[in-house]
Amino acid sequence: MAELSLEHVGKTYPNGYEGVKDFNLQIADKEFIIFVGPSGCGKSTTLRMIAGLEDITSGTLKIDGRVVNDVEPKDRDIAMVFQNYALYPHMTVYDNMAFPLKLRKVDAAQIDKIVREAARILDLEKLLDRKPSALSGGQRQRVAMGRAIARQPKVFLMDEPLSNLDAKLRVQMRAEISKLHDRLGATIIYVTHDQTEAMTLGTRIVVMKDGVMQQVDTPSNLYSKPCNLFVAGFIGSPQMNFIDARVGEKGGKITLTFGANTITVPDAKAKALKPYVGKVVIAGIRPEDVVEEHEYAENKKLSEKIAATVTVYELLGSEAMIYGDVDGGQISAHLSATNPVRTGDRIQVAFDVDKLHVFDKETELAIVH
Ligand code: ADP
Repeated sequence: MAELSLEHVGKTYPNGYEGVKDFNLQIADKEFIIFVGPSGCGKSTTLRMIAGLEDITSGTLKIDGRVVNDVEPKDRDIAMVFQNYALYPHMTVYDNMAFPLKLRKVDAAQIDKIVREAARILDLEKLLDRKPSALSGGQRQRVAMGRAIARQPKVFLMDEPLSNLDAKLRVQMRAEISKLHDRLGATIIYVTHDQTEAMTLGTRIVVMKDGVMQQVDTPSNLYSKPCNLFVAGFIGSPQMNFIDARVGEKGGKITLTFGANTITVPDAKAKALKPYVGKVVIAGIRPEDVVEEHEYAENKKLSEKIAATVTVYELLGSEAMIYGDVDGGQISAHLSATNPVRTGDRIQVAFDVDKLHVFDKETELAIVH
């Protein structure tokens, strides 16, 4: 399989629009890399530059140490799976997978071996004689994957391959792709706008915005240590709560005040906030780190209690969400499904302050997390 290197890669479209700016990334063999970000952030452009479907305006792209900026797509040894997986309708599943190999004049016995192995990996063995019209959406998507696997490429590129599937199938195929990565030990680069897909599939995730890479990290680091306000808001669902807060100092401790509420910042996070005393910052706390009074755990390091009024209560099955007003802002929190709190209730919440994030209001960069 393959290593990729993107150094200062940029794309300026003929109309002058810079779709991707100074993209730098080293991808190791067997990594599952996700490009994630809102629509228009440059994910597909970057993927298409790697595929060779889009010219690279500046910078260098290497696959296994070889510069491939000007190498034809077919000679880059990559296979791409798109959201619109066009299968040949008149061909059987077997022939759909075999076709790219026939084009490459691979001998028939070898083709048979490769196609049957791909079918085994994707659990398509019983469907080899069917035409695409006799397959479900998920099965068709697996055939498209099979066609990519049969080519035995160095790198798989996948552009929103699940976005045309219904929700249930998407979850199922997500698990399939994850297993596939384990089984193939392949390098995969996968584009999605869906942060759940990104978090569940990726070994590393590249978060992009406006053509600029924001952060590259493991799913767990992106969640616990987002580098700026954008990443903090993008990763995690429901999204992190953001509240304007004024930094203060009281009895040698650093505090954050919003409305009539003041919370004390733990010592480990206090030092970086010292220069901000007197200034307004953005405090960030995830809904899962806001604890309602009924659920205070004995040994948890919680901040001072804050009064809130519940404006929305949503039962989600095993758990519930509440959205509420606090003095100086709004807050959402996870509750257990058995929690008796409902819309209109006046409640007390506390923050798990060890999980508190604070962002600079001007630069939007994380000060502490
Ligand atoms: P994403 O995949 O993240 O949704 P794209 O990579 O497709 O975004 O596009 C990045 C930006 O480049 C978008 O703002 C898009 O409008 C712009 N763009 C894409 N293709 C072209 C083009 N051929 N000419 C000009 N701008 C383009």
